[in-house]
Amino acid sequence: MKIVARQALLPEGWAEHVEITLDGGHITGIAPAAPGAVADHDTLLPGVANLHSHAFQRGFAGLTEARGPGADSFWTWRDMMYRFALGLDPDAAQAVAEMAYVEMLEAGYTRVGEFHYLHHAPDGRPYADPAEMSARIFAASAATGIALTHLPVFYAHGGFGPTAASDGQRRFLHDREAFLRLIELCDRMAADRPGAVVGLAPHSLRAASADDLAALIPALPGRPVHIHIAEQTPEVRDCLAFCGQRPVEWLLEHAPVGPGWCLIHATHLTEAEVAGIARSGAVVGLCPVTESNLGDGIFPGPAFAAAGGRYGVGTDSNVRISLAGELRTLEYSQRLAGQARNVMALREGSTGQQLFDAALAGGHQALDAGVPGLAPGAPADLVALCDPLQMGSDGPTMLDRWIFGPDITVGDVWARGDHVVRDGRHRDRAAVTRRFARVARAILG
Ligand code: ZN
Repeated sequence: MKIVARQALLPEGWAEHVEITLDGGHITGIAPAAPGAVADHDTLLPGVANLHSHAFQRGFAGLTEARGPGADSFWTWRDMMYRFALGLDPDAAQAVAEMAYVEMLEAGYTRVGEFHYLHHAPDGRPYADPAEMSARIFAASAATGIALTHLPVFYAHGGFGPTAASDGQRRFLHDREAFLRLIELCDRMAADRPGAVVGLAPHSLRAASADDLAALIPALPGRPVHIHIAEQTPEVRDCLAFCGQRPVEWLLEHAPVGPGWCLIHATHLTEAEVAGIARSGAVVGLCPVTESNLGDGIFPGPAFAAAGGRYGVGTDSNVRISLAGELRTLEYSQRLAGQARNVMALREGSTGQQLFDAALAGGHQALDAGVPGLAPGAPADLVALCDPLQMGSDGPTMLDRWIFGPDITVGDVWARGDHVVRDGRHRDRAAVTRRFARVARAILG
């Protein structure tokens, strides 16, 4: 199949009037289009990797926004999340994940990093197949077409110390041996799914102890490692009280943090921690929409970018799935904090382009998805932006208009060559929405 675009973002920069050939799920050719060829699409981008999702949390998006009797916080939100998590059986979890993945594809994401911790039956016992819930994530990925980096979560404790896990956490828990078995089962599923990657995710320094990290990381070499860290100030305070170090400070000193690592949130950092993460080559996984929703705080973005730090974006709680929205919220939160404009841009020129480039590279690195970009041999993961005003904007201006303005939308998406989104709608949106609505009503109605 051939696609002609008015312009396309290639690894070497923007090219005009381009013909891209797709075959067998990959890009097989990129060449100037014939002079008289009519463009099928306006602006083509490579698909971006969504580096952090908890798919099931899509199920209660928008339902935790009413004020309770006391002060609301991340921790009251977490109570609601636990209640919802306890109500999902495997069929329901798959239906919710399919809804989230349809919306991700419609937003321009072609791969998801699923930070997966809903492992066991509602009573806390493993299913007959201990990888049952992971299998449903693989199934949702296959059904919708989004590529998967599966990140099974190791979760063993309720807090620093370690302290015992609470009853609400019973579906999340493993000992190390059972966790290694889960990874083995996931590897088997990944072997049958083109492009699938299996990493590991020690949930946080609250849920995985120093001994757990020291045992698991060397036992599973060469895989992406993701961890929630320094999202909330109480977590920083508790870590300091426990070991005398801040979470990121401790991690950089005690774990082999490097380019294969993704530090999710890393919101509360000292200057030394900013420099340390940047030096390590690890990616920071920013989730600006969720971080705003939960009131986490503001990541020191300009300092981190100036230090050469790498970052990508994730949809995390999936409260509102929007790639443009993540990039816009990232930039806007920094503008509010710094009382300045265009603050995440390191050099003159389009802020949208610089945000997009960073998220593209950081997302692929964090999810072990290979070299990003539209190039022969790469998976055919393409996103077409459409411009109803047909202004003929150059590439960087299209990205600025998409991220910050109201007119530009994602029109079409190809996932491994499969044309899954047309005119902004996933081909299975109607059926997926019906199944999702049944589940949401059953649990919450
Ligand atoms: Zn998360």
